[in-house]
Amino acid sequence: MDSNAMIWFRKGLRIHDNPALDHARRGCKHLFPVFVLDPWYLDPDPAAFSPGSARSGINRIRFLLDSLADLDSSLRRLGSRLLLLRGDPATLLCRVLKDWNIKSLCFEFDSEPYSLARDKQVTDFASACGIKVFSPVSHTLFNPTDIIEKNGGRPPLTYQSFVALTGKPPPPISVTYSELPTVGDTGEYELLTVPAIQELGYGDISQEEFSPFRGGESEALRRLKKSLKDKEWVAKFEKPKGDPSAFLKPATTVLSPYLKFGCLSPRHFYHCLHDIYNSVGSHTSPPVSLVGQLLWREFFYTVAFGTPNFDRMIGNKICKQIPWGDNEELLVAWREGQTGYPWIDAIMIQLKKWGWIHHLARHSVACFLTRGDLFIHWEKGRDVFERLLVDSDWAINNGNWLWLSCSSFFYQYYQIYSPISFGKKYDPDGNYIRHFLPVLKDMPKEYIYEPWSAPLSVQKKAKCIVGKDYPKPVVAHETASKECRKKMAEGYASNISGNKVASQKDVLRRKSQDDNSQASSPSKIKQRRKAIK
Ligand code: FAD
Repeated sequence: MDSNAMIWFRKGLRIHDNPALDHARRGCKHLFPVFVLDPWYLDPDPAAFSPGSARSGINRIRFLLDSLADLDSSLRRLGSRLLLLRGDPATLLCRVLKDWNIKSLCFEFDSEPYSLARDKQVTDFASACGIKVFSPVSHTLFNPTDIIEKNGGRPPLTYQSFVALTGKPPPPISVTYSELPTVGDTGEYELLTVPAIQELGYGDISQEEFSPFRGGESEALRRLKKSLKDKEWVAKFEKPKGDPSAFLKPATTVLSPYLKFGCLSPRHFYHCLHDIYNSVGSHTSPPVSLVGQLLWREFFYTVAFGTPNFDRMIGNKICKQIPWGDNEELLVAWREGQTGYPWIDAIMIQLKKWGWIHHLARHSVACFLTRGDLFIHWEKGRDVFERLLVDSDWAINNGNWLWLSCSSFFYQYYQIYSPISFGKKYDPDGNYIRHFLPVLKDMPKEYIYEPWSAPLSVQKKAKCIVGKDYPKPVVAHETASKECRKKMAEGYASNISGNKVASQKDVLRRKSQDDNSQASSPSKIKQRRKAIK
């Protein structure tokens, strides 16, 4: 009872169902709750899209700061507070562990490569000093190591085979705290209050529209409660039925940023869903149900953890080696929402402003950039998503880019999302486009998805001349997509990755089992093939 313990927060920014916190608080005299602002993640330069960088754009940093402020208030209510430091986490941690005479160090296991290297440094130091380390798995429902072990040492590469290896996840910790051990003497350290975004150098507050999603555990639990209030909606949830253009009332939960930062425990989410399933008669099932969505998250976490070089094409055994192009002009047009295809551009502007877009919107723009139209390397698109998404998540983002570019998991490269008809199906009036691309707000609905086809008189009346006020299409979809199919076929034929190219029949059968987009029956696949074309 007389020793000091530390809970080192990184993700897992919550009090509820936090096994590391729960372990740390037991039997210690003083508890030191620490978070280190790591400069590696901070890059205020809005033009920084460096390859492989995990640098965060303004919306995600704002979300993190909200989450830290919320965590600090919750800790204060329990008689504690957040000790915020800034600098290299491993260096700082090793210093404070000694100076604060910590005997027990607790932090949530984090499976990303950067985190594993950082944590090894700290753990090695702690062990050498005789400090006990406790690092439980609670960012995911399952321990990826266990799943890989069960699968004979290799990660399962299909959703179905992954699900077959899982059982029921452990229940969440149900204790609630009335108080936590007090913080001990922190000596000379400069402890920060949660800074304003500008203090971190993110000065571009000229951005007219920020993400509407505020960070923090309180907001996560409020949002969860709101999402699950309508039990029928939960029971009938089917991902392919969602409308990607529904921005005022998104068709899905928008819990991804809260799961990313651990403001929400996935086990708590899972068990709330199961309580609802138990209380209603029938409900949808994986892969399309809400539990199914959580299992997609687990699937990508497991494969990412067990696959060397998961975040790149070269050296990645499960990734097809495709000779992608690198046209910088086309990449910038895509990134800045200037492709001349309003559906694509509106999505990219929503991504930039809000940091969140619907799953099928992600499909549309990822397909367009890679195998659909521009034939640009998926790693380039991944970098842009990594910076701009509030929910940017190393395993899930890379996994989905591998999927969408037909580099892994999914191989129907001949199915391409139309940048014109796909969005029109959901939003024939183009309200989504009008909102995110106000330059097109007066374009008649007949032309809103293809403004270049509007007669000049119509363009003049709509105060939007294509080529002057809004770009002409950067490529002609018909010919570009044909060319992409050809290049993909050639790439697959000379493939040097470990995977065999599946026949079209195999692919369709597999797709019915493992659809991440996520139709589940052959008839739905047929419907979707029509829709996509
Ligand atoms: P819901 O449909 O309400 O699902 C609940 C939760 O399930 C989500 O919050 C998420 O944690 C998980 N989930 C849902 N779909 C998927 C999926 N396909 N793969 C893995 N987990 C899933 N999701 C991220 O969280 N971070 C990313 O960086 C990310 N990058 C993506 C990149 C591309 C190219 C694509 C196509 C998808 C990406 N996704 C990513 C997956 C998915 O689009 C988002 O998780 C989802 O849209 C988030 O919205 P939601 O919380 O309303 O989802």
